[in-house]
Amino acid sequence: MTVAIYYFRNDLRLEDNPAFILACKNADFLLPIYVHEQKLEEETRWGFSRVGQHRKAFLQDSLEDLRTQLRYLGSDLFELAGDFKEVFSALRTQLGINLIYCEQIVAPEELEQVRVLKTIGFEVISSWQSSMLDPHSLLFKLEDMPDVFTQFRQQVEKQKLRFANPVEAHASIPPLPAGSKALSQKTYVDMFSSKKSFLGGESKALLHIEQYFDRRLPDTYKQTRNQLIGLDYSSKFSPWLALGCCSARSIAKKLTEYELEYGANDGTYWLWFELLWRDYFRFLHFKYDNKLYRSTGLSTEPNNPFIEIIFKQWSSGSTGESLIDAGMRELQGTGYLSNRMRQIVASYWIYNMKGDWQAGAAWFESQLIDYDVYSNQGNWLYIAGKGTDPRGGRPMNLAKQTQDHDPDGIYRKIWLS
Ligand SMILES: Cc1cc2nc3c(=O)[nH]c(=O)nc-3n(C[C@H](O)[C@H](O)[C@H](O)COP(=O)(O)OP(=O)(O)OC[C@H]3O[C@@H](n4cnc5c(N)ncnc54)[C@H](O)[C@@H]3O)c2cc1C
Repeated sequence: MTVAIYYFRNDLRLEDNPAFILACKNADFLLPIYVHEQKLEEETRWGFSRVGQHRKAFLQDSLEDLRTQLRYLGSDLFELAGDFKEVFSALRTQLGINLIYCEQIVAPEELEQVRVLKTIGFEVISSWQSSMLDPHSLLFKLEDMPDVFTQFRQQVEKQKLRFANPVEAHASIPPLPAGSKALSQKTYVDMFSSKKSFLGGESKALLHIEQYFDRRLPDTYKQTRNQLIGLDYSSKFSPWLALGCCSARSIAKKLTEYELEYGANDGTYWLWFELLWRDYFRFLHFKYDNKLYRSTGLSTEPNNPFIEIIFKQWSSGSTGESLIDAGMRELQGTGYLSNRMRQIVASYWIYNMKGDWQAGAAWFESQLIDYDVYSNQGNWLYIAGKGTDPRGGRPMNLAKQTQDHDPDGIYRKIWLS
């Protein structure tokens, strides 16, 4: 008789979740859990909380949605909180389970979690499932992947790779193990409120994706993607992708079906192209792992020093530069920022304010509802010139960016008034 834990990480969905399906197939009894790590409740070394209120609110919705689905299928979701090692050690003691299924995440903290689980005696079966492409379908090993995005994309296109096929949700879920009802659950997410721009959860994700395609928004994506105002200028898939409420493969499959129905165009290609950037930053982690997390990144250039007073000006949107301040206030007010504004404020922080790029990345981690360890780290390294980009850094001309993207000042008026 096999009794196992399914440890939900950034895969809060039932559709296209091969790791969960494997657990359902192999276990006679299965305990689905989510862990609120105490570590994430602590402050960063720069003096702000690691997970801000918008992220918590989005997570809370997503967990509730998942729990509803699991209960409907006769199972449940157990939210546990505390020190990571202690939470799992207690589970072993209380329920006598020593097998865990989960998705594979190749970022340092998440790799460390799996190492800890193994040291306390768990067998961990993890599956890679967060990219659009199956890394095994690439003609090169990930350790040898091209450093430059264009070369990576060209190889993928030469192989005519589009996406790996998503898999359907498992029809049934094994019953809960004996004793699980007695587990003490604790969530940190229900004691605050947030003005929500997005609602989390798989059902909301699927609805949003459906509507995005039904409204034929992919057709105009290339023309609108650099705009700053509203919901429709870009897909807004990222919050749901970040927590795994939907998979990149399902979106890419939908995109391909859309192209078959309405024809491929610049917009549909560009959407796929951006999803490929997401894969690229994931796959780079297999090649460079912890090196991407050094303050020098992959370069030898030292990082800028952290100066608190300057950081506060930037993060609170009070630098005196109206476009930067508008962007930072949008981020803090909503937990979301357009890609263009992310580039502009990150560049301004690193090159104009001579700020510490790691503190900037940590602020984004705290604020963004679509915080994704691979994409955040990858984009910050890219702009700071400490990643794989041969051009070595992306300083931006603020006057030009303002003229190009907010010539009439409407965006600034929205966030500064
Ligand atoms: C400094 C900085 C930090 C960032 N941090 C994150 C982050 O933590 N999480 C995150 O998901 N994205 C991050 N991005 C990438 C990008 O800004 C967002 O993915 C995008 O703005 C999300 O909005 P959207 O879903 O409407 O994107 P769309 O423009 O509609 O793009 C479709 C999808 O493609 C992917 N994508 C698009 N641009 C990028 C990119 N540059 N890098 C990786 N994937 C991309 C996303 O999954 C996105 O949902 C960051 C960019 C910068 C410059």
